[in-house]
Amino acid sequence: MASTAGSLQSSSSFSADTMQFLISPRNIKRFDHRDEKCGDPAASREQNNLGLVDYDSLPEFLKHNEFIVNYYRSEWPLRETLLSLFSIHNETLNVWTHLIGFFIFLVLAGYAASIFPVGGAATGINDNPMMEQIRSGNSSIISIPFHDMFFVPTYQTPIPNTPLTSRLSRWPFYIYLAGAMFCLLMSSACHLLSCHSARTSYVMLRLDFAGISGLIVSSFYPLVYYTFACHPFFRNVYLCSITVFGLATIVISLVPVFDSPQFRPVRAVLFACMAASGIVPIAHKMLAFGHRPEAVLTTGYEAVMAMFYGLGVVVYALRVPERWLPGKFDLAGHSHQLFHVLVVAGAYTHYLASVVYLGWREAEGC
Ligand SMILES: [Zn+2]
Repeated sequence: MASTAGSLQSSSSFSADTMQFLISPRNIKRFDHRDEKCGDPAASREQNNLGLVDYDSLPEFLKHNEFIVNYYRSEWPLRETLLSLFSIHNETLNVWTHLIGFFIFLVLAGYAASIFPVGGAATGINDNPMMEQIRSGNSSIISIPFHDMFFVPTYQTPIPNTPLTSRLSRWPFYIYLAGAMFCLLMSSACHLLSCHSARTSYVMLRLDFAGISGLIVSSFYPLVYYTFACHPFFRNVYLCSITVFGLATIVISLVPVFDSPQFRPVRAVLFACMAASGIVPIAHKMLAFGHRPEAVLTTGYEAVMAMFYGLGVVVYALRVPERWLPGKFDLAGHSHQLFHVLVVAGAYTHYLASVVYLGWREAEGC
């Protein structure tokens, strides 16, 4: 690997002077951990903690992607690690993509709570254009007005004779929003804090896995609960199955042996199987309610969501584009940042589907 000074010039599109100004008042430096054993420990720690380093200088627990060459934080003190939220390094956009995603879902949750109060009285549906299209059978995603794609249908006018509405639970909708926020916040924290120490990295990665499991499991809740609101047997079987599956995946990801390289694919396959098992209730929904425009529209959203997540996993696994030009995407544009944006897009698409599920049952009951 080229030295840092050399690679700054050769592998970054910025000049060294520009980068020094943008990143920190200190130079990026190459730190060799072998020097720590024979040099002055205090001086070594000082050197280790205060600069950005290149890939070759990292301890093993921080070596994940050799195509990202520079701008690593390595074993920084906790205070400086926390403050690095506001400085530029190769995790800055990984932290902020999911932190902004968290705040987007926080705003969506606040907006939804004003429309669907958790314990509020049942109300009916007005002539919102999206729900109008759903109910008229004209359920093309593309034809939904731009504004209505972003928030939720407006509920104002009570509809008489809707027996289920007064008993309809809204918690599955909010469980999903909470699951998405937990996942995005844990991911953001994991990217910010993991460079502090091997122990912190270990704990944060487990919380990140728990967040991914939480997002997948909570995604099932509005789908299953509202689709099978009038079929408690299937509703309970699906909810219990995915919850047990999710808890088992979290427990397995806590076992240290699954952290070893040979077991990492097993963990990845577990997450993939858990997500793919959503095909079962979705297929069941189409068999039972395929004549309903709400079922068709939500399945369309779920297909778009699967496309976003699937593309994200492919980009993540292939590590493109940095594989093609190592060092050129260290700060912006590398695969993990693209993966994060696709995750937020997928989660948002499922939010839109969840709004339709809730609106469907609020308006009609069984
Ligand atoms: Zn991530």
